[in-house]
Amino acid sequence: MRCWLCLRVLRASVVGFVLGKIKTILGARDMSIKSPNSATDSLTRLHSPEVFHLLVDSVADYAIFLLDPEGNISSWNPGAERLKQYKAEEIIGKHFSVFYTQHDLEAGKPEHELRVAGETGRFEDEGWRVKKDGSRFWANVVITRLCDERDNLIGFGKITRDITERRAAELRFRTLVESVLDYGIFSMDSGGHITSWNVGAERIKGYSAEEVAGKHFSLFYTEEDRRSGLPNRILQAAAEHGHFGAEGWRVRKDGRRFWASIVVTALRDEEGVLYGFSKVTRDMSDRKALLEELKRHADELEIRVQEREQSNAELEAFAYSVSHDLRAPLRAIVGFAEALQEDCSKDLDQQGREYLEEIIKAAARMNTLVQDLLEYGRISRVNLQLAPVNLKDVVGNAMRQLGNDYSGAIDVQVSPDLWVLAHEQALAQVTFNLLSNAVKFHKKGVSAEVHLSAAAHNGSVRLSVIDNGIGIAPQHRERIWQVFERLHDRETYPGTGIGLAIVKRAIGRMGGTCGVESEVGKGSTFWIELPQADPEGEG
Ligand code: ADP
Repeated sequence: MRCWLCLRVLRASVVGFVLGKIKTILGARDMSIKSPNSATDSLTRLHSPEVFHLLVDSVADYAIFLLDPEGNISSWNPGAERLKQYKAEEIIGKHFSVFYTQHDLEAGKPEHELRVAGETGRFEDEGWRVKKDGSRFWANVVITRLCDERDNLIGFGKITRDITERRAAELRFRTLVESVLDYGIFSMDSGGHITSWNVGAERIKGYSAEEVAGKHFSLFYTEEDRRSGLPNRILQAAAEHGHFGAEGWRVRKDGRRFWASIVVTALRDEEGVLYGFSKVTRDMSDRKALLEELKRHADELEIRVQEREQSNAELEAFAYSVSHDLRAPLRAIVGFAEALQEDCSKDLDQQGREYLEEIIKAAARMNTLVQDLLEYGRISRVNLQLAPVNLKDVVGNAMRQLGNDYSGAIDVQVSPDLWVLAHEQALAQVTFNLLSNAVKFHKKGVSAEVHLSAAAHNGSVRLSVIDNGIGIAPQHRERIWQVFERLHDRETYPGTGIGLAIVKRAIGRMGGTCGVESEVGKGSTFWIELPQADPEGEG
């Protein structure tokens, strides 16, 4: 009789807990147990001692048993047998303290637990328990007070679960988290109060675990951020979206600020109820300082480039006006020198005639230089109107400029139906410059052989000028495109050093690209590429 009463009271107090834990097992077998709308007789059946026995006996993962008021075991389920290794007949009648470690026994733990459960109705604990063979397991224990209708204590219900593996996993995880130095990792309750703290957090923020336990995490925020409610907004965002990441200034214990990258993650239980947050903080101050330093350098560089471009443009403008103004006196020098040569040559001695010859040659060189500079200035300034240009015509134009002396050395392979979008005169000048270089820079004693060809590919047309000349060493292939950059003295190969600068500037202004491939002693291929054009259309 007493046993039935016990069972009824135990059923009332622990059935909710057990049902919650084992509903997946039984739910699959008997849906009526879960249904809140079951008929009254189903409910009565559900609350009958038989069903309760069935329930308790079917639980293999939990030890569920009864104790009399003194703590002697009075029932035993298969879960208890599985967990603690005792058979019912071996253990019933024994005191439940047999499951406690020597240490806990000496500390009076079993008595303490019964006393608390007796006084408060319930006692929950986690700790080591001992099996029959002496081995230990980490247990989650719930002891529930059982009373009869007149509120007299009739015993206790005890539910024990083996959570050794979960604890080991938790310990492993905690050890891992705690050993992380570069990240501050801590957890908070749902209100933002700190509940755990790793060494990384201590290192980054300067507080020890004891100092921050229970404090609100807004402690690490700047006064402005706290006033604007940022910490709570972060929690709200994390609760809403699962997690929230951001970067911003945070404050260390010593008041110094650091630039933090943070991720806050909402922690929810199986039912989806928010029970806290985890927060990972990384000190990004060094990276931020580095990025700012880099940006400062980049800005400075940008200013210098702009200044240089500006002074280059001014220099080019100056060179252009000087060249322009030099033309008249230069014409006078050439004119008078030639007049002197024609009219007074006989009055000069041999040396005088040689000097005069030098003046005329120097003036001619200067004239070429002035012409080239003017051309470079013109290409840089004038508005180059682009239109479909027939490549074969342009090449023909450049060949005529070169004259008969060289044209024999050049083999031209350009299809008459290739059109490019270009400025005709500028493109003729570019082609001329490339061809004249190709024939000029031949090896001594080897006559120049030049091939000019063009091909369309992917909407562009590439024109290549291939020579068998002296070639260009790799370290010079960039600088030869700059004004006045020459690799040879004027006696060996005459020139002004402006031809390729004109090519580069003109092609760039026409929206194309240019380049060179070369091998010293074997020859060079200079190429330009321009957008292909449709002769009928706009380009
Ligand atoms: P210039 O021909 O008046 O010297 P450029 O600007 O046309 O000036 O060329 C710059 C330099 O590039 C030349 O002085 C020469 O050293 C090198 N170069 C140009 N074209 C060739 C080529 N086809 N073969 C070898 N070197 C070349």
